[in-house]
Amino acid sequence: MKRAHNFSAGPGVLPIPVLEATSQAVLDYNNLGMSIMEMSHRSKEYDAVFTEAQKNGLKILGLSPEEYDVLFLGGGASMQFIMLPMNFLRTSADYINTGNWAKNAIKEAKFVGKVNVAASSDDKNFNYIPRSFNFDPKADYIHLTTNNTIFGTRWDKIPETLPNVPLVADMSSDFMSRRLDYSKFSMIYAGAQKNIGPAGATMVIIRKDFAATANEEVPTMLKYKTHIDKGSMFNTPPCVNTYVVGEVFKWILAQGGLEAIEQNNIKKAGILYDYMDANSDFYKPTVAVKEDRSLMNVTWNLNTPELEAQFIAEAKSKHNMTNLKGHRVVGGIRASIYNACPITSVEALVKFMEEFKKANK
Ligand SMILES: *Cc1c(COP(=O)(O)O)cnc(C)c1O
Repeated sequence: MKRAHNFSAGPGVLPIPVLEATSQAVLDYNNLGMSIMEMSHRSKEYDAVFTEAQKNGLKILGLSPEEYDVLFLGGGASMQFIMLPMNFLRTSADYINTGNWAKNAIKEAKFVGKVNVAASSDDKNFNYIPRSFNFDPKADYIHLTTNNTIFGTRWDKIPETLPNVPLVADMSSDFMSRRLDYSKFSMIYAGAQKNIGPAGATMVIIRKDFAATANEEVPTMLKYKTHIDKGSMFNTPPCVNTYVVGEVFKWILAQGGLEAIEQNNIKKAGILYDYMDANSDFYKPTVAVKEDRSLMNVTWNLNTPELEAQFIAEAKSKHNMTNLKGHRVVGGIRASIYNACPITSVEALVKFMEEFKKANK
């Protein structure tokens, strides 16, 4: 199989064994004589797929099914921007503003109630992670974004927040990429298409005791309790998407879990950042503070937008390196190197960067 060097920010690259298992399952799942997309979501065979994905998801994160529920919902991470406040915002919620997605989450929360922006890196176009906070001890919850897909920053360590205020995170673009104390979070959500599967399924992990505090007056489909009470099958779930997510979880476990995944991610990102730091006359990483640099979305500039356009075009035409263009709100270059991006793609990119620099310096 000939593969592009795919640096897409999302939907992102997936592991080859997952694509192979999926292509077989799309034709005939487990010799049942039907495709995974033709099966009843209530059948015992599909139920086994779904519950195994829920179970392995928690296992990878080191969370217990006694304490947490797992949902696979539609609507993307963007739907969680409004579901979260509808269920949990009563008086005021704290949000940390570290980029575009965080801003979108804040915008939606304001439809429901008051938002206190407890920290922001807006003053420097989100090129760093804030280190001082103005938390409200009465906040209903604190919301942060663990990795800022567009600006290329991430929280190296999850900040100390207030012990009595539930912590909620949008982990869409670095979900299952590293070890963290996931038990600090009352709720975690992630659109699958960045690191754990195809678009169309959003994983929500929610502490049972936090879920129990939700607002009652919420429309049925937007209420977490509806989905929790029915094992995430109140209505037809994203069946095929969740199957693929389950295959990605098996792949993560087979790699050695988050420890091995994290080591590999540190290595891949290190190759790129080290090269740029050594060649910063030509390649300029947008994030200067090293511990704030994303291991998933590596962003940089060249000296002019014209040179950037030439870089992107040549990477594509000469080496089949795709999706290197920075997000439309920031421009520049972005290489997304999610879990399944092979190290050989990163090495090929750095090799091309050296060639390009020599030719255009
Ligand atoms: C991509 C992304 C989103 C939006 O995800 P959708 O599933 O497209 O709604 C939200 N948050 C972060 C951090 C993202 O990277």
